[in-house]
Amino acid sequence: MNPGHSHPDHDPCAEGEGLLRLEEAQRRIVEAVGRPQQTEMIPLGRAAGRVLAATLTADVEVPPFDNSAMDGYALHASALPATGESSLRQVGTAWAGRPFQGQVGPGECVRIMTGAPMPAGTDTVIMQEQVHVAGEQVIIGVGHRPGENRRQAGESLAHGSEILAAGSRLTPAHLGLAASAGVAEVSVYRRPRVAILSTGDELQSAGQPLGPGQIYDSNRCSLTAMLERLGIEVTDLGVIPDRLEATRDALLEASQTAEVIISSGGVSVGDADFVVEVLRAEGQVGFWKVAIKPGKPLAFGRLGRAWFFGLPGNPVSSMVTFYQLVQPALQRLCGVDPLPQPLLVNARLAAPLRKQPGRLEFQRARLAPGRDGQLTVEALGQQGSNVLRSMVEADCFIVLPLEQGHLEAGQWVQVQPFAGLV
Ligand code: AMP
Ligand code: MG
Repeated sequence: MNPGHSHPDHDPCAEGEGLLRLEEAQRRIVEAVGRPQQTEMIPLGRAAGRVLAATLTADVEVPPFDNSAMDGYALHASALPATGESSLRQVGTAWAGRPFQGQVGPGECVRIMTGAPMPAGTDTVIMQEQVHVAGEQVIIGVGHRPGENRRQAGESLAHGSEILAAGSRLTPAHLGLAASAGVAEVSVYRRPRVAILSTGDELQSAGQPLGPGQIYDSNRCSLTAMLERLGIEVTDLGVIPDRLEATRDALLEASQTAEVIISSGGVSVGDADFVVEVLRAEGQVGFWKVAIKPGKPLAFGRLGRAWFFGLPGNPVSSMVTFYQLVQPALQRLCGVDPLPQPLLVNARLAAPLRKQPGRLEFQRARLAPGRDGQLTVEALGQQGSNVLRSMVEADCFIVLPLEQGHLEAGQWVQVQPFAGLV
């Protein structure tokens, strides 16, 4: 969003009339936040979870030389017998890290260990279990293939080839591959500074006694954990009481340092819902009704230089809206490219499901293998957006399209396993 050139059609924070489809809300948010600008060089060993800012190219071959895949005997393929046996004289040993220095001639072989360079004059390794050794003589039978058990230089990474693409989020495997090519430092995107806060007079922090009408604040805790799983460090601004002044002060202060502010609660149309009011006065905000259940109300906007997400207060709603709308935006802000698409699998309903057309639903459910080997899925009994226990007992969402009505047992539905969410 460019505040200087705001036009209703292009303003990502513009209010939608009626319900906004989830894909449209996701698209607007991801496009608005854009890609990160700043990068930093860090040691490879500290880069787990970070996003690569520049494509890594191999300036060596991996492996750097032909080497043995087995413990055995290295020889030239011309020494393999067509029938019967050949007897070769062992002229030395090749160790991993201590190559055999000489040339292997006709009638000769070298004892070789896994990872040792192929000695000059050899191209094939026979496993030690497949030979007979008699003194210095090594006896080899038929059935071997020229070149067997030899790893080729560059077969993992060729010289000049791409090791990892810019935009990759670095997993242990990514780090290992880069290390195998001798990479010591990587350029990664700087991570966005994210501040979170809860709104609500009823909220008490854990460890304090509950007063009348109070409940414990759970959203900051689950939000922090969801952010940390994305590799983001969180500033926790605590609980903001339901007062206009306090909400304004907290949000303005957060916008001084944070690049992203995530609040929960206070975005409905109740009398104590001040978040949108403050954002309207001090920044730019769209108050959207996204056509999903749970989680209809969502505020998205800008406050100073910070992006703002106002999530609904109900704990399940705040988690669902985080996963569906905030997480893709944060992944984009972290430089992840392309954005991961949700993993959806097909499963058969174990029981009928009630669903009114009009909103895309994320029903908390459990997957199990059915008797016919197909996956079956059963929605949990309590689907209230306040019942956080449903997120603990579930291992997936059943994702029901907006137009979908009631379903019968045995019908196929799409399921998003929780394991695929980050
Ligand atoms: P609100 O969106 O502020 O109207 O809140 C909707 C519901 O979510 C109310 O029942 C709140 O008490 C509850 N709620 C709001 N914020 C939190 C929170 N941080 N932790 C637990 N429940 C919350
Ligand atoms: Mg509230």
